[in-house]
Amino acid sequence: MDFSYTDEQELLIESIDEFVRRSMPDDLITRMYAEQSVPDELTRAYLEAGFALIGLPEEYGGVPCDRVTLGILTERFAHASGCLTPFLNNVLAVNDMIDFGNEEQIRLCLETYLEEGKPLFSLGFSEPGAGSDNASMSTVTRRQADGSFLLNGQKTWVTAGESLPNVLVAAKDEDPSPDNRSMSMWLVPRTTAGLSTSSLHKIGAEIMPFCEMFFDDVVLTEDMRVGVAGEGFKNLMKNYEMERCLIIAQCLGIAQAAMDDAAAYTGERETFGKPIISYQLIQQKLTDMEIALLNTRNLLYRTLWMIDTGQPVRIESALLKRYGAQACTQVASEALQIYGGLGFTTETRLGRIWKDCRGMEIAGGTNEIMVHIAGRQLARRYARK
Ligand SMILES: Cc1cc2nc3c(=O)[nH]c(=O)nc-3n(C[C@H](O)[C@H](O)[C@H](O)COP(=O)(O)OP(=O)(O)OC[C@H]3O[C@@H](n4cnc5c(N)ncnc54)[C@H](O)[C@@H]3O)c2cc1C
Repeated sequence: MDFSYTDEQELLIESIDEFVRRSMPDDLITRMYAEQSVPDELTRAYLEAGFALIGLPEEYGGVPCDRVTLGILTERFAHASGCLTPFLNNVLAVNDMIDFGNEEQIRLCLETYLEEGKPLFSLGFSEPGAGSDNASMSTVTRRQADGSFLLNGQKTWVTAGESLPNVLVAAKDEDPSPDNRSMSMWLVPRTTAGLSTSSLHKIGAEIMPFCEMFFDDVVLTEDMRVGVAGEGFKNLMKNYEMERCLIIAQCLGIAQAAMDDAAAYTGERETFGKPIISYQLIQQKLTDMEIALLNTRNLLYRTLWMIDTGQPVRIESALLKRYGAQACTQVASEALQIYGGLGFTTETRLGRIWKDCRGMEIAGGTNEIMVHIAGRQLARRYARK
């Protein structure tokens, strides 16, 4: 077992740190949260520095790497900047299109990405009546006599839904009833007649706002379908495992940033004439925070290594997501506590980090759904022979 970084990974870490020092000063990050967006110059700088290409296949102009390295990139970027950014979602979306799209759709998606550093589309899967239970979605397409389709329904919590030029919509084919498992993916331009949006106000991760989307007799043509007709549900599930790993890599990075701040503060802040680190209750907090970070990191990289070595990670990715999101939220919460009253202001980044981590206990599959995924499988794994 080798826990050390390769020379290339060391170099990657150094270049991320350097990029963040140069391009992401604290006041810019504060502004990004306030303005709920990432400036185009920063997205382009990220692209020009080469980070955006890491993890994409070579034939599409990317710089392929193993999943462990993608995890390191994600964790380190979040750690160095102390914030969540859309860059990771972008590379995942492009990879989704490479997996499911036809040549024309992939070309279009990559052209946009390589030029602007942004994906072509947001992901419209969840509905007001169907989040965890995606199969119960009722957004539906119905074929018309002229061969076109009419799309009707509503999506919600669509991240970047109002800023990206298209949305990848999952919709039932013909029949919206819960027993109908046949669904397809459609790439729908945001300006299509009949599509409207309404902003939702997040309590955290404000850099990436989300919105509701309404589809009212939106006309689709066959060439807007992404992937095989009827197999949308399979596609929807396929990339969740990797997404969950990278969500936790992000949480881990920002929780580590909270740990950095809080641990340093314990040596600086004095009460009753002594630095607060002299109190065992504070020492215990740091100890438990470090254990939570180490456990999350070990679970994360072991799961990514399993993916790299072709092993199934249905259970492991669910265990990681459930444990890691809660552990990182707890680390951020304790960091805030260590700062006392100051922690509960916007003078530090701890409240922001806590809220960002908290959202990840819901996004990409809730804590409870991770039990739903792992629990029964674990019983099977441990069944007596
Ligand atoms: C930051 C953020 C970004 C997001 N981005 C997107 C996006 O880009 N695109 C998109 O489509 N969606 C997005 N979502 C939506 C997200 O996928 C859903 O919120 C999530 O899947 C949960 O669905 P729900 O909110 O409908 O909760 P529900 O499914 O209604 O669940 C309600 C509660 O019941 C629990 N529960 C549900 N079923 C079970 C069960 N079987 N056993 C035990 N407990 C259960 C849940 O864990 C939860 O606590 C985002 C959400 C967040 C927070």
